[in-house]
Amino acid sequence: MNVHKRISALLNSETPPALFLDRDGVINRRIEGGYVKSPDEFEFIEGSPEAIAQLNRFFSPVIIITNQQGIGKGVMSDKELELVHDHMLKNLEKHGAHIDRIYYCPALESSGDPCRKPSPGMALKAKKDFHQIRFQNSAIVGDSLSDMLVGARTGMLNVFIGNPEIARKYPRLIHFCFNSLAEFARFIHNLHA
Ligand SMILES: [Mg+2]
Repeated sequence: MNVHKRISALLNSETPPALFLDRDGVINRRIEGGYVKSPDEFEFIEGSPEAIAQLNRFFSPVIIITNQQGIGKGVMSDKELELVHDHMLKNLEKHGAHIDRIYYCPALESSGDPCRKPSPGMALKAKKDFHQIRFQNSAIVGDSLSDMLVGARTGMLNVFIGNPEIARKYPRLIHFCFNSLAEFARFIHNLHA
């Protein structure tokens, strides 16, 4: 089945498809060489709260899976991350956007921890927690190849946010490429319209 047929099938399936979202670089601006350690360092990418609200109409559950090795490095604490996420969820709520669960991996890249993307540990955990999740009926949106690898390892539809040149280099790994989450949400909306 080609990817366009697959996404249509996904949107028209009886049980709603699940959506996995990366956080940094998809929902909020990533801080190059650093971490979002407090709510005032958290900045939404323009249009991403509205995009999530729109995507909530088509996908359920909507889950964030995010690597946060700043915790493993001791640069920030679990508590500080929790404050950042409370802030994010509150602001999403104001836009009518809903996230069902956030999974984060505090492990260092060097640890080989199975929860850290590109390993699929967080997605597998979500599947245990949400019995309705079928990976074949799920999509993942991320701005890194490690997100796309999580999708490839679990059989999801892979949506890349970023440079189309990169997408062209990895045609098997990246099924769709958009500039932003807002653009992906518009695409989904138009498919359904
Ligand atoms: Mg990212």
